[in-house]
Amino acid sequence: MDCIFCKIIKGDIPSARVYEDENMIIIKDIAPQAKYHYLAIPKKHFADVTEMTADDAVLVGNMLRKIGELAPSLGLDGGFRLVSNKGADAMQSVPHLHIHILGGEKMSDKMC
Ligand code: 5GP
Ligand code: ZN
Repeated sequence: MDCIFCKIIKGDIPSARVYEDENMIIIKDIAPQAKYHYLAIPKKHFADVTEMTADDAVLVGNMLRKIGELAPSLGLDGGFRLVSNKGADAMQSVPHLHIHILGGEKMSDKMC
């Protein structure tokens, strides 16, 4: 499958990995939109939240909990914003579910 995040997970495309376990990786976004901008990516490929099975929901729930645990070590003591885009209106560009983790600075309140 020609999926950039599957290639990053396999190591075929290099990335700055800050965390990995059996279910997910967290990497630094290549085009940061905040002082700290990470992507939490499940190792299992599914396009977005509309393609999640019940098992995927457990997986994503555990990802959220892990992000919360890791936040202080990622420089996110002051808080953070989580975003997961789906589809054209949200400007999703990589159709492999991922959670943007943004923080390290005060963010705009315009969109969410
Ligand atoms: P989306 O627009 O699908 O919600 O987010 C995709 C994100 O992946 C974008 O923020 C983009 O900067 C990031 N991205 C795209 N290609 C790469 C890459 O090769 N490496 C890394 N680290 N991030 C990438
Ligand atoms: Zn993929």
